[in-house]
Amino acid sequence: MFFLEFARACETLEKTSGRLDMIDIISKELPKLSDEELPVFVRFVMGRVFPDWSPKKLDIGPNLLYESVGYVVGLKKDKVIDRINRTGDVGKAVEELLSDKNHLSQQMLFFHEALDLVSVYNELISISEQGGKKIQAGSEKVQREKPQQEKLRGVRRLFSAASPLEGRYLSRIMLEELRIGVGEGSVREAVAKAFGVDSALVEHAQQALNDMGEVARLAKQGPDALQSVQVTPFHPVRMMLAQQGSIADMIEEHGEIAAEFKYDGSRFQFHKKGNWARLYSRRLEDVTAALPDVIQQLLSATEHDVILDGEVIAIKDGKPMPFQSVLRRFRRRHDIAEAQDAIAMVPNVFDIIWLDGETLIDLPFSERRKRLESVVTQYLAPQVRSDREEEITKTYEAALAAGHEGIMIKVPASPYTPGQRGKNWIKIKPEVDTLDLAVIGAEWGEGKRAHVFGSFLVACQDNGKLMPLSRVATGFSDEQLAEVFELLKESVISESGKEVTFEPSLVFEVGYAELQASSNYECGFALRFPRFIRIRDDKDIPDVETIENIRERYKRQANSAQAYQR
Ligand code: AMP
Repeated sequence: MFFLEFARACETLEKTSGRLDMIDIISKELPKLSDEELPVFVRFVMGRVFPDWSPKKLDIGPNLLYESVGYVVGLKKDKVIDRINRTGDVGKAVEELLSDKNHLSQQMLFFHEALDLVSVYNELISISEQGGKKIQAGSEKVQREKPQQEKLRGVRRLFSAASPLEGRYLSRIMLEELRIGVGEGSVREAVAKAFGVDSALVEHAQQALNDMGEVARLAKQGPDALQSVQVTPFHPVRMMLAQQGSIADMIEEHGEIAAEFKYDGSRFQFHKKGNWARLYSRRLEDVTAALPDVIQQLLSATEHDVILDGEVIAIKDGKPMPFQSVLRRFRRRHDIAEAQDAIAMVPNVFDIIWLDGETLIDLPFSERRKRLESVVTQYLAPQVRSDREEEITKTYEAALAAGHEGIMIKVPASPYTPGQRGKNWIKIKPEVDTLDLAVIGAEWGEGKRAHVFGSFLVACQDNGKLMPLSRVATGFSDEQLAEVFELLKESVISESGKEVTFEPSLVFEVGYAELQASSNYECGFALRFPRFIRIRDDKDIPDVETIENIRERYKRQANSAQAYQR
């Protein structure tokens, strides 16, 4: 498939608003594709380049992209940014710029070799590989600059061969946000429709493989191929997630339930096969190098080939330390040995996903727990099973007394459902008024903070669409503002006066005194006394608080205010 055909399909999808129509359009494209093209098309149409399990990153920041486009069209980066500010969209701005250039040099059109879907993919892979390369010889500066130069060259090569319409989607793919409104659910339905297979089967295969591209290839082979998928070591699956709920409701619905401490640390997935072991974060990043102590502990806990799910916490004097100490270790790139001495990291294992070649996700939790207990000798999260509310409440109190966040309640009969926030895992913790929100904009600081961002615009989501909810300007130390600046400076997509807009990438936990109904923001709410609590870099943009949840909280808040007045 030519990349232009892909771009045309995206253009049609961008103009389509109905979900069913979108599914129909995608499902008609899929059968035309070769086995090599199919996974690439499927990932691209979701705005992704790599399989979801892959910790690889494209790592083309907006700045690198603007510079490359500027080079190709003969403009300085500032002029490219001006155009983006005017159109309000990187893709459309790139399209316009390439179109201006083609008017100026008509002959360019004839010299182009048409871009092909798979060759674009291969070029992106090679661009991504430039990022992490260490160049041995030369000064430190050369070590840092060389890979950037290589990346830049690759990106320029693609833009110089792209037509304006291709430029629109190429730039969006490079920023890994296609903005055509196609989510994983629509692609799942389209795959099912295209190849006449059950969409539940597609979903199940996606849970095990964590790569819709590969799932589409199997769907083309038929239901048996989908049915027989296995979880693969070193291809992390998404983490199963929890909802809020109550002990009494869970007992009423399920009878006997399992309760475990809710550890306030960082989620991990441990993969081990033979002598090879890796550790992945909640975002499925490979954090092996940062946590050799945790790897050692887990290796000493089992001789088997396993994929384990758990939470790592930091312990000092027998007490859990705040969650930040753990995150700091997950992010660490240097001086890892020193960091190990300062803080003891302890893994708590609570689930098993794969054992000695067998995929366990469809087994009931009680059965998985038995397997877990039979092969993992240390670091197991203790579990209490009971159908009595007092007993579970006692565990909850013990968890809080020991300095943990609360408890997790799990349904013994439930399968492991990767990536799902279902009702089979329920978290019980004291109500705290904080929300996890996406950082979508900022304002430059003033005075001694003039070189960093000083206040931030944060957003909740409505089915994936981000909606501004509040500005956050308090709660930051100078150190934190500097850290946030470093994390966000490459994500600026537009700037006007003191205001900047970001390609959303960072999640803040924001505390507040009260939720207020407000017409200032489209979502209809605002936060009273918002304050920054912490960066949640274990969470991604799709994990931010939903507007439904905020409405719920608002109702609960109103109810408790009435109760107080009575
Ligand atoms: P939350 O991040 O508040 O949605 O709570 C869910 C998170 O609690 C999970 O993603 C884990 O990182 C963490 N957690 C801590 N202890 C447990 C446990 N025993 N079982 C499952 N998740 C746990």
